Amino acid sequence: MPAVDGFGLFRFSFPMSDLATRLEHVQSRIRKACGRCGRDPASVRLMGVSKNHPASAVSDLVSLGLTLFGENRVQEAKAKIPQCPSRARWHFIGHLQSNKVRDAVALFEMIQGVDSLAIAGEIQRHAEKQSRRLGILLEVNVAGESSKFGWNPDAVVEAIPALNAFDRLELHGLMTIAPYSPDPARARPCFRRLRELRDRCEQRLGAPLPTLSMGMSGDLEVAIEEGSTLVRVGTDLFGPRPRPEE
Ligand SMILES: *Cc1c(COP(=O)(O)O)cnc(C)c1O
Repeated sequence: MPAVDGFGLFRFSFPMSDLATRLEHVQSRIRKACGRCGRDPASVRLMGVSKNHPASAVSDLVSLGLTLFGENRVQEAKAKIPQCPSRARWHFIGHLQSNKVRDAVALFEMIQGVDSLAIAGEIQRHAEKQSRRLGILLEVNVAGESSKFGWNPDAVVEAIPALNAFDRLELHGLMTIAPYSPDPARARPCFRRLRELRDRCEQRLGAPLPTLSMGMSGDLEVAIEEGSTLVRVGTDLFGPRPRPEE
């Protein structure tokens, strides 16, 4: 029977051996994709997307050697992160609301999902107050989907100098979520465009932007072939996501 945990979510417990099997399977997919395109598997970081999953599953994955995790809701992260091993590293992924910035700055070492100058300015303001420095990735809405947050590709290149001027923010690169399709090959043009856009942003900055966060459970191989340096995997690591209580 599912129990309700501390964040008001249904908790399903998965045996640790299942997590170990899934982790090994995802790591093997990453190695094979790297093998096909001549990349070093160490150049691709694996993030476990733990949204809707309990702290116990994060702790189990830390025991198995995974240390990078992503959350997309500040309230949930605020309850969960203190229950997880302090060795875990945390990135916020997705759109951040301005009234959540103060907590996000305290909880996360990187915000993957900076989608406007206004939110970058808010992060800078709170980082200064809290004497913190944060990494940021710019979320780009490559396919121009109306349902998604993120920069328009041309606007992001224009914004690079202004973003680089925030002295509490370290600009590491770009992030995108490909349009959903049952055929992962359909995501390839989106990933390729993000890489090309990253190259334009580097030119504009005159310095490297090493991080390309792209690829999830369904499309990580294609993302790696197109240059991803960080894949964000939820379902294929943790199992099916329990739905938050309505
Ligand atoms: C949920 C989520 C993921 C993980 O998705 P899966 O398909 O479960 O691997 C990755 N990135 C972001 C931004 C997400 O919100």
